Amino acid sequence: MIDSKLVTAATNALRHDWTIAEIEAIYTAAVPDLVFRAQLVHRDHHRATEVQGCMLLSIKTGGCPEDCAYCPQSAHYKTTVSRSDLVSIAELTSAAEQARAQGATRFCMGAAWRDVPDGPAFTQVLTMVRVVRGLGMEACCTLGMLTQEQANALADAGLTAYNHNLDTSPEFYRSIITTRTYTERLETLARVRQAGVTVCCGGIIGMGEDRRVRYGLLQQLSSLAPHPESVPINLLVRVEGTPLADMKPEDPFELVRTIATARILMPASMVRLSAGRMGLTDEAQALCFLAGANSVFMGDRLLTTPNPGASHDEQLLDRLGMRLTVSGSDRTVPAHVAG
Ligand code: SF4
Repeated sequence: MIDSKLVTAATNALRHDWTIAEIEAIYTAAVPDLVFRAQLVHRDHHRATEVQGCMLLSIKTGGCPEDCAYCPQSAHYKTTVSRSDLVSIAELTSAAEQARAQGATRFCMGAAWRDVPDGPAFTQVLTMVRVVRGLGMEACCTLGMLTQEQANALADAGLTAYNHNLDTSPEFYRSIITTRTYTERLETLARVRQAGVTVCCGGIIGMGEDRRVRYGLLQQLSSLAPHPESVPINLLVRVEGTPLADMKPEDPFELVRTIATARILMPASMVRLSAGRMGLTDEAQALCFLAGANSVFMGDRLLTTPNPGASHDEQLLDRLGMRLTVSGSDRTVPAHVAG
């Protein structure tokens, strides 16, 4: 029996004051009720049969001084990821053109830096942003911590979004990263917002956290005002050599619950089904779409970890009667056009 409160609550205005008790009540609802509520919210703000395709390119790989316990690019761990310098503009252009040809409308560029080095490397990144925008795609960067001047320069170059994840709750954070603080992450997000660039910010599940940690992460994300326009939800990819390599695989239904709760708390945001899709069946991914995920990363690699290829995604969306969005969608879609 569907609680009528679930229906009326679906059209609530955006809120930034969700309590842990409210988040817990949403997260732990029976999956049919949770997914139903998430669908109601989703259809109020987005086209229900469309998914945005994003392509992610590692523009500078490995050797990162941070110690994020999940990351094979950290210099603190011995993994098979080898270091490489910033890619050339020609390489970037070719990858971006290929992404566009495969249907991507957002191109994300990731560099394994703690903070962005000023000088030729940053100038080259600004050129990359201009190239991607010139190809008609949304441009997103994830480069580590930013100064206000760097955020402003990225905005001037036309950057659409900046990714900087909170990863987990403030309480669990120190078990995962010790080389920078939660507050530093929030400060970078504030600078991005101040520069007028949209915010891409999410987290990872399956790192040994319990549900309360996920409630804490979701509360932090939804307390940002405005909400991040983009909320990537990642499932840990267990990589040999990292401290989380032997973590027990997470139950995919916890991912579905996390996505549905994110959808309900942040109705207008794009919820991105991000890393970890290789560990999911097609059916589990379909359930994530029903729960409100409306973006995937395409291509057979995600920075350094495997990802389903673009053709597999195309087939899956086709089997589901869904399709890739034909233009960027970091904006809300009025209910009357929701399909
Ligand atoms: S997640 Fe980013 S900041 Fe953390 S170690 Fe990896 S590349 Fe560095």
